[in-house]
Amino acid sequence: MSTDMSVSEFILQNEPTIRIGFFISIFAIMAIWEIIAPRRALTICKAVRWINNMGIVFLNTAIIRFIFPIAAVNLAAFAVAHDWGILNVYSVPFALAVLISVVALDFIIYLQHVLVHAIPALWRLHRVHHADLDFDVTTGARFHPIEIIMSMLIKFSAIVVIGPPVIAVVIFEVVLSSMAMFNHSNVRLPLGLDRVIRILFVTPDMHRVHHSTEDNETNSNFGFNLSIWDKLFGTYIDQPRGGHHDMHIGIHGFKDPKQVSQLPGMLMLPFVGKITGYAINRREWSKESSKEWGKERSKESSIESSNVEFHDNKKE
Ligand SMILES: [Zn+2]
Ligand SMILES: [Zn+2]
Repeated sequence: MSTDMSVSEFILQNEPTIRIGFFISIFAIMAIWEIIAPRRALTICKAVRWINNMGIVFLNTAIIRFIFPIAAVNLAAFAVAHDWGILNVYSVPFALAVLISVVALDFIIYLQHVLVHAIPALWRLHRVHHADLDFDVTTGARFHPIEIIMSMLIKFSAIVVIGPPVIAVVIFEVVLSSMAMFNHSNVRLPLGLDRVIRILFVTPDMHRVHHSTEDNETNSNFGFNLSIWDKLFGTYIDQPRGGHHDMHIGIHGFKDPKQVSQLPGMLMLPFVGKITGYAINRREWSKESSKEWGKERSKESSIESSNVEFHDNKKE
């Protein structure tokens, strides 16, 4: 326990340095990798996108510092000290508690991501992430400030309920931010290696499917770290229909660079236009799929009616 305490104290004192150090290092590695081995040609000016995408990152960092008096690790330390949360109530071996916490927090992030696609008003916020016309390392950090505040509130609630060790929260935050940069990168990965990593983790090719303009592809591959959630809950799509080179990135109907690539337009994006058909309960059926669905329904109802007849015969 004393080792745990000293490690926790060291992490608490150096947490911002650890986090920023990882952010800059992974960002630099992915940015260089994107130049050496890009997966797709970018469609709009990289400098304009990077200035604006990084602009929203700095704005979000400032807003979070202003609104939240403490960081997630401080809240975890407070929860440990006051025996808050499941893992502080039951005695769980330290290493197992760290593993459970990291996996549970990742599952919550997966559920939160499904939620922002499912609820129309939240999809408006999340559109800022999806409206990027290209997919690269900066896309991974591009979120509307209100979505970032909501994420913080969900993370704080999860910490209070789970009661994770301080080190688990630091590992989770560093891994999440590093993986978000990795799996949004415009990098070419040998296909065999992609398959091996994908057994457990999300790869750039897997997450690129989620940024397709096709609505069934947008509503798939919600995971940020572990790939298991999409496979377990039936939201996994292996490859984009159009192929990685020819698929379209972004949202149907949102192509104006002022709106999707420049900071003021991005900040206003949740408040303009209609919700669009991407949100799960607003999806509109094309004529073709309506017809197909109609055929399926008539097949099902004929099977049901024959079953009814069968039961009725039995009764007689
Ligand atoms: Zn999404
Ligand atoms: Zn994404």
